Amino acid sequence: MTGKPLKVMIVGAGTGGLCLAQGLKLNNVSVELFERDYSPTDRLQGYRLSIDTAGGKALRSCLPGPLFENLVGSSAKPSQRVAFLDHRMNRLLAIDFPQSERKGIDTELPVSRIALRRILLEGLGPFIHFSKKFVAFEDAPDGAVTARFEDGSTATGDVLIGADGAGSHLRAQLLPDARRAETGILAISGKFHLSNDAREATPQEIPRPYADSWSQRLLLVHQRGRIWRASPQRL
Ligand SMILES: Cc1cc2nc3c(=O)[nH]c(=O)nc-3n(C[C@H](O)[C@H](O)[C@H](O)COP(=O)(O)OP(=O)(O)OC[C@H]3O[C@@H](n4cnc5c(N)ncnc54)[C@H](O)[C@@H]3O)c2cc1C
Repeated sequence: MTGKPLKVMIVGAGTGGLCLAQGLKLNNVSVELFERDYSPTDRLQGYRLSIDTAGGKALRSCLPGPLFENLVGSSAKPSQRVAFLDHRMNRLLAIDFPQSERKGIDTELPVSRIALRRILLEGLGPFIHFSKKFVAFEDAPDGAVTARFEDGSTATGDVLIGADGAGSHLRAQLLPDARRAETGILAISGKFHLSNDAREATPQEIPRPYADSWSQRLLLVHQRGRIWRASPQRL
């Protein structure tokens, strides 16, 4: 590369921002992240996330080899079935997945959000600025861009990337017409320890062979668009 090295700024150190930062760092591109949270452990992000094949491939190309292996090693067995029940335990839908082994990226990777976050944060500490709530951006001289934060500070770089989630402030400024559509559906998720008592109390409508596995999910659909979801798990 000739001239000044490219400086990339990412707003938001969530799943997408951290993954991108890992990929840029792996390719020796200068990157800085700006996150509104006060610290990496500000919020408990405990629920499981399933990474599909495309996501697994993206993560493999962005993460250093040992870190990706760590991610695969931290993942649970791929789901065998997802069942949807209503609040009276009537089955609405059940989807069976082909049996697959937890071998690599050619299968779903169910991973706890805490584990995923810990892995994605690895090695990025010096490049993340916490307590930096993005408020606006403006053009700077020579094609650069300046980001402004709530505490009055600014940062200037060549590229500014918005990875600040579904309610992105950056998107609101850049694409004011791209608005979120309110669906009226609210989902509340949780998990509980699959102890013997919990196993006994688990309704028969949940197929027993699956109630024993990590992959079982019980989804209770409540009226007026609220969805309550609970997963029995061995913790
Ligand atoms: C219940 C539930 C289940 C899901 N299950 C799955 C699943 O199984 N598989 C899957 O692939 N996806 C799943 N998703 C979706 C997945 O969680 C999101 O797609 C993903 O987290 C989006 O990542 P992101 O980096 O874009 O945003 P986020 O992870 O939301 O990160 C945004 C970051 O930006 C920060 N931020 C926000 N505003 C500012 C600001 N103004 N300045 C600075 N920082 C800011 C936030 O603090 C946060 O750290 C699920 C989502 C939900 C709600």
